[in-house]
Amino acid sequence: MLDSEFQHNFHTHTFRCKHAEGDVDDYCEMAISMGMKTLGISDHSALPDDRWLSARMRYIDLPEYNEVITNAKIKYPQLRVLKGMECEYIPEQQSWYEDELFGIYEFEYLIGAAHFFLDSDEKWMPTYGGTNSAKALIEFGHYTAKMMESGLFDFIAHPDLFGNCYQSWDANCTACTRDIMAAAAATGVGLEINALGIRKQAAKSSNNPFPLYPWLPFWEEATAHDVKVIVNSDAHRPSDLQGKTGDAFRIVNDLNLHHMDVTSIGARYQ
Ligand SMILES: [Zn+2]
Ligand SMILES: [Zn+2]
Repeated sequence: MLDSEFQHNFHTHTFRCKHAEGDVDDYCEMAISMGMKTLGISDHSALPDDRWLSARMRYIDLPEYNEVITNAKIKYPQLRVLKGMECEYIPEQQSWYEDELFGIYEFEYLIGAAHFFLDSDEKWMPTYGGTNSAKALIEFGHYTAKMMESGLFDFIAHPDLFGNCYQSWDANCTACTRDIMAAAAATGVGLEINALGIRKQAAKSSNNPFPLYPWLPFWEEATAHDVKVIVNSDAHRPSDLQGKTGDAFRIVNDLNLHHMDVTSIGARYQ
């Protein structure tokens, strides 16, 4: 029997996003062989206008993605398979997430993820390479808070992604983090400690000056707020289904953070 902390994963990508390997069945079989109980599939979301297409599925792939997950639920009854996606939050498309994703396709959960963020001039900025100033950090924090307030997402993937290009923790980081924590406390949306980040840190080249993620001061700040966290592997291949999640759980335990009740994910649609 696996320790309970290794029985679930809600952050899993398929080949459709063009930078991951394997399909839903491959992950299901790996999860079963590892003794897992829950597998949430959450590929990078299709978007109706096919923007940012290089690292996500195409809009025309969405019906087939829906179908393979629906079929896997029947094919692998011993595993709780959940239908999800990892989404950017595009405020003017709020009704699309509600009507098409939750309504027509019956998605069971969505992950909010700010790989891009909308700034105060209503311009989209990339988080990779873009959160490198005080202004950008403020805007990243505000955007992430809005994402939580939308009511669409169960948790936020790697909310500390700004560590990809911000070198040292300072008051700007603390201010951004407090905005994120306040929204998480008010909405009950979870904050993800992302084990792909730990795998990236392990593989980081010695001349990369940035902390990447998880960035420990972010999670230390979390101890001062009434927030819930969740550990996921962010698997981009079946063999990474629990890659470094033990290290992520160590952060939860060392800081005495409150892990989400994972049985609540997807429960509102059952
Ligand atoms: Zn990815
Ligand atoms: Zn992901």
